[in-house]
Amino acid sequence: MSVMMPKPSEAILSRRQVIVDALRAIVPGEGVVDIAQEMAVFESDGLTAYRQLPLVVVLPQTVRQVAEVLTYCHREEIPVVPRGSGTSLSGGALPLQDGVLLVLSKFNRVLEIDYDNRCAVVQPGVTNLGITHAVAHRGFYYAPDPSSQIACSIGGNVAENSGGVHCLKYGLTANNVLGIEFVTIEGEIVRLGGKHLDAEGYDILGLMTGSEGLLGVVTEVTVRILQKPETARAVLIGFPTSEQAGACVAAIIAKGIIPGGMEMMDRPAIHAAEDFVQAGYPTDVEALLIVELDGPGAEVDHLLAEVEAIGNANGAVTCRVSQSEEERAAFWAGRKAAFPAVGRISPDYYCMDGTIPRKELPKVLAGMKALSDKYGLRVANVFHAGDGNLHPLILYDANNEGELRRAEEFGNDILRLCVEVGGVLTGEHGVGVEKRDLMPEMFGEDDLKHQQRVKCAFDDKHLLNPGKVFPELHRCAELGRMHVHKGQVAFPDLPRF
Ligand SMILES: Cc1cc2nc3c(=O)[nH]c(=O)nc-3n(C[C@H](O)[C@H](O)[C@H](O)COP(=O)(O)OP(=O)(O)OC[C@H]3O[C@@H](n4cnc5c(N)ncnc54)[C@H](O)[C@@H]3O)c2cc1C
Repeated sequence: MSVMMPKPSEAILSRRQVIVDALRAIVPGEGVVDIAQEMAVFESDGLTAYRQLPLVVVLPQTVRQVAEVLTYCHREEIPVVPRGSGTSLSGGALPLQDGVLLVLSKFNRVLEIDYDNRCAVVQPGVTNLGITHAVAHRGFYYAPDPSSQIACSIGGNVAENSGGVHCLKYGLTANNVLGIEFVTIEGEIVRLGGKHLDAEGYDILGLMTGSEGLLGVVTEVTVRILQKPETARAVLIGFPTSEQAGACVAAIIAKGIIPGGMEMMDRPAIHAAEDFVQAGYPTDVEALLIVELDGPGAEVDHLLAEVEAIGNANGAVTCRVSQSEEERAAFWAGRKAAFPAVGRISPDYYCMDGTIPRKELPKVLAGMKALSDKYGLRVANVFHAGDGNLHPLILYDANNEGELRRAEEFGNDILRLCVEVGGVLTGEHGVGVEKRDLMPEMFGEDDLKHQQRVKCAFDDKHLLNPGKVFPELHRCAELGRMHVHKGQVAFPDLPRF
């Protein structure tokens, strides 16, 4: 593993059997998995370059069990890594050798659907798409739609503040979650928000959304559900250059049009997706935009004509509007299958995730091309163009000595480039272990300390998901007194990695 993780505690490893027995007393039956072969499926998440077995896997079924497991781990000072479906692309659910992997997949029930208040109350292991499936027969859906929506859990979405192609118009997870229940590391069960809007006091719900499993374990989620728009049509617009496609995106937004989704793919991604799912994409263009307009029929027709005109003014060479619901779904199927499609043209790929101001797209694309030449690795690009959220997929072969390392360095340089042009490296996939050591590129020491003070308020022993998000582990008691002067660190006894 080329990412450094906290050194496992020998004291915990040596009492593994005692810990397993204690956990079995809380979650009986098949809820505790401690055999290496059976734990192997949990050894990594979607960032498969990094993997290691946990101390033990626990799959609780009730909130009471979650609370008791956390209380026990807190008392015994055992790290805990929460996990939903394990699709994180930043290593957020990477297990720890001396830690309990707390898997929420048995929390898979839709608890209540309240059409009058337009919300659904679900357990955290329900898949993102499962929520839409539960309400689709009444013409409703859950808007944020990560491409992994068939598998990823709503608990994981909350922890990562996940986005998707429809978030440009309808907002990210944070804008669609109304309330949660979570359990603190000390075993306290806390409820925030609910069916009503505007919770009183500090916005702790906002803090929890995107907290990557570092502040608490989410055990229930109340989400907003929306009525399906009367009409939705998508248009494919092809360009001879990515710069022209980028300019078209900026012009659509500048005109005041907010499409339901606006995605961009470059030539390698277009070809990979087309070969994989035959979405009907043009294969003779360098960049493709998929723009979806939704709303009342007359409005959609009007906006489609405007978007087509903007495309033409920016040098579009093809323009095709979906003529049926099947065709619209096919246009999106290609985009949603882009990651696995790229998996067919390269033994391995590394998915990066950064966000930039939209107008910087041409500069960043040119920079990525130069980096691709420098590292001798190909890159396929898929973007949430409307949000400026980039997903460069770096193609490599882990069997070739040193290629993974080169892919990682290439990825780090892309993220540095995003920050350099005024963007952010946190993107929509979270920080996890993947971007942890790059956090100082974006945040100063004081910023990071303030963020860690929030962590300390929830988890002063750093037991929830340690080794993720923050590049250095500070003891909470020492925060504010840590100072590096001329390369000399005060308090050299502090555990760091
Ligand atoms: C093919 C593919 C496409 C993807 N497309 C997108 C996309 O379009 N947009 C996007 O945003 N992401 C995307 N992702 C990334 C990923 O699917 C999301 O981050 C998703 O929200 C993770 O959910 P999960 O249930 O798999 O969480 P996991 O991977 O299990 O965990 C992710 C993080 O959440 C924490 N966590 C999980 N459950 C809980 C809980 N109940 N309480 C507290 N913490 C918890 C974990 O500790 C970890 O830090 C994609 C991934 C893949 C593999």
